Amino acid sequence: MNIVIVGGGLAAAKAAVELREGGHSDSVVVLAGEDHLPYERPPLSKGVLLGQADPDSATVLDKDWYADHDVDLRTATTADAIDLEAGTVHAGDDVLPFDRLLLATGSRPRHLRMADESGAPVAYLRTLEDSRLLKESFGAENRLIIIGGGWIGLEVAAAARAADTHVTIVESLELPLLRVLGPEVAAHFADLHRAHGVDLRLSAQVTGIDSDGTVHLADGSALASDLVVVGVGVEPVDDLARQAGLDVDNGVLVDELLRTSDPRVLAAGDVANQQHPVLGRRIRVEHWDTAIEQGRHAARVMLGLDAAYDRLPYFFTDQYDLGMEYVGSIGPDGYTDVQIEGEPASGAFRAYWLRDGLVVAGMHVNDWDATEEIRARVGTRADH
Ligand code: NAP
Repeated sequence: MNIVIVGGGLAAAKAAVELREGGHSDSVVVLAGEDHLPYERPPLSKGVLLGQADPDSATVLDKDWYADHDVDLRTATTADAIDLEAGTVHAGDDVLPFDRLLLATGSRPRHLRMADESGAPVAYLRTLEDSRLLKESFGAENRLIIIGGGWIGLEVAAAARAADTHVTIVESLELPLLRVLGPEVAAHFADLHRAHGVDLRLSAQVTGIDSDGTVHLADGSALASDLVVVGVGVEPVDDLARQAGLDVDNGVLVDELLRTSDPRVLAAGDVANQQHPVLGRRIRVEHWDTAIEQGRHAARVMLGLDAAYDRLPYFFTDQYDLGMEYVGSIGPDGYTDVQIEGEPASGAFRAYWLRDGLVVAGMHVNDWDATEEIRARVGTRADH
């Protein structure tokens, strides 16, 4: 059975490992777009950016692993097309036959045209090169304006402040991370960044960016910058799947087992929009843990496992002296209550989001023994 994996990130690497550990001895080809061995992205906005981790430490498996396990990793290689009828993937002049195909193509940053066309220095953060370049812009003499108060925005702000960089965050909503955490907990992150000297501009709209880096806001402010960092979300790289005729809608649509509309083809990680068996709805999760676990699960399904991927979404962040882990998903129906355990001002607490008594998500801040308990409580009723 020939297996082709398209995508050279964490999900792809974990799938390759699982295939070999699961006893698959036929061909495995991995088409990796970047000119790197597959690597993890969390260090790019944390340890690497802080100068605490070597960029090479983000590599998932060293080069020898692929050779030793007869995995044909082709870096700097883009898949151009999938021919479902012929059962082939086209990459340049190569035509690769597959019996099973895994799409682990990830996501790419949403671009802000106003920034791209401004002529000002603009950065996005997605790749190792982006991380290295961004780090060079830090320093007490430098002014960073970050557009977007999401995960990239806040983690970049924390790393930049550690190097004494002047940092302004421009966020369109009333609080950073508002959609993920709701106002009660998002306010904690706003306070954290203000306490570390970040100029937070909330409910703020960027109306123009001059070529000298001046950022204009709707309230009339004009903010000078040396670099504009854009972190306004990502979009799934689902073009190949769409062109092949697979069902696509905000990512590649997959069933509970991570199978696309063609059961020989699976998808995992940022690009997979899964019908989640526990949440009872579709969800596309853009986090590290999902790339790992869906990559592994997809490999097992390719080898014959008949079981749904039912792991709840999980993510973590590190910002200044705050570490947090989150399990679950509030989802489009929102929540009706938040229960905070502990005193946020102390720097350590837990939060649970409830919808009509059902715990839909939970997180802790600096309470590292809490993770499994939080995982166990999500999906249970708080009133029992
Ligand atoms: P994100 O977490 O989705 O946050 C984007 C933020 O930018 C949102 O708050 C969004 O508000 C705001 N925004 C959108 N358009 C804007 C505009 N024109 N002006 C100002 N604000 C605007 O995305 P991200 O921070 O770019 O991160 C990229 C990806 O990396 C995400 O998938 C993220 O999950 C992942 N990541 C994860 C971690 C982690 O797990 N710790 C760390 C880094 C990155 P709206 O909600 O209103 O659009």
